[in-house]
Amino acid sequence: MSSPSLSRRVLTWYDRHGRKTLPWKRKRDPYRIWISEIMLQQTQVTTVIPYFSRFIARFPGIKALARADLDEVLHLWTGLGYYARARNLHKAAQRIVQEHASVFPRRFEAVTDLPGIGRSTAGAILALAFGNRHPILDGNVKRVLARYHAVDTPLNKRETEDSLWQLAEKHTPRKRVADYTQAIMDLGATVCTRTKPRCTACPLRTTCHAWRLGTPQDYPVRAASRKTPVKATRMLMIRDRRGRILLQRRPPAGLWGGLWGFPECTNGNARHWCRQQLGLDIQTDAPWPTLRHSFSHFHLDITPIPAQVLGGTDQAMENAETVWYNVRRPDQRGFSAPVKRLLEQMADIMLTEESN
Ligand code: SF4
Repeated sequence: MSSPSLSRRVLTWYDRHGRKTLPWKRKRDPYRIWISEIMLQQTQVTTVIPYFSRFIARFPGIKALARADLDEVLHLWTGLGYYARARNLHKAAQRIVQEHASVFPRRFEAVTDLPGIGRSTAGAILALAFGNRHPILDGNVKRVLARYHAVDTPLNKRETEDSLWQLAEKHTPRKRVADYTQAIMDLGATVCTRTKPRCTACPLRTTCHAWRLGTPQDYPVRAASRKTPVKATRMLMIRDRRGRILLQRRPPAGLWGGLWGFPECTNGNARHWCRQQLGLDIQTDAPWPTLRHSFSHFHLDITPIPAQVLGGTDQAMENAETVWYNVRRPDQRGFSAPVKRLLEQMADIMLTEESN
């Protein structure tokens, strides 16, 4: 007798063990599902839950998000990382208002045409919100299928991606598509995990090729790893006489795009750089210990340099891209995780100075 199909076994497992109480599952609302799917890219469920709740409380629908100031969207994203996701959500909400009368589109091509939504995310939203049959292939599903079929070519190869899509398409059932989509993602997140998969609790074990070979962790096959490059920068934490900190908004695209941060001077003399670039005379103190922030494709070594402005601050005028920031009265801006941490440390130091 042949084994039940992969989808049938995954659905039976889901009915017993699936995570059905997550906040974005309570309603089949494409907006909530969209926000959660974007947040869940590269980020664990437990981290996402409080961010999702705050985001939905502040922006309960597409119109509210489209109307919002980008700074506020980035502020609510602070700490989640991969900030292009937040910028794209904001842009996509504005496009939905303008081009789709504020209603999340149901056509696959219209969804993938929105910024930040690729084939798998579009499939997941349409399957979860409307029950439309679309395969998905996020990181969790790739891992399950690569192990189940013992796919032995590296994940970064085009042909591997193509064959995984074909497998995803083949296994997607015609009925209960929304449940299956959630189920296969949940199975990857909770059973067929990256390290230490719980094969003995897996409904696919009897026909899983990687399990039979005894090597689940050899799949998916990774490309030979190259050494991760290291870049370096110096962040100038410039205080004026009133204890305010000079912050600049980063360009909209690229690393930490649109977030607020310290002026950065990558080489040369920091005082000369400041005079030339900002028109400010500063005195620098001893640098703080270098801290490393790791991205998926490189490490960034950050050396924070505390500095004081000499003379008045009127040479560095405030504008849309530059502010003197009061760390004791934080407002709603987006910061990268290291800048947020450094600002908190500066606030602690100032409090200590004041109490002495
Ligand atoms: S049996 Fe193990 S390797 Fe195979 S799909 Fe299940 S958890 Fe993953």
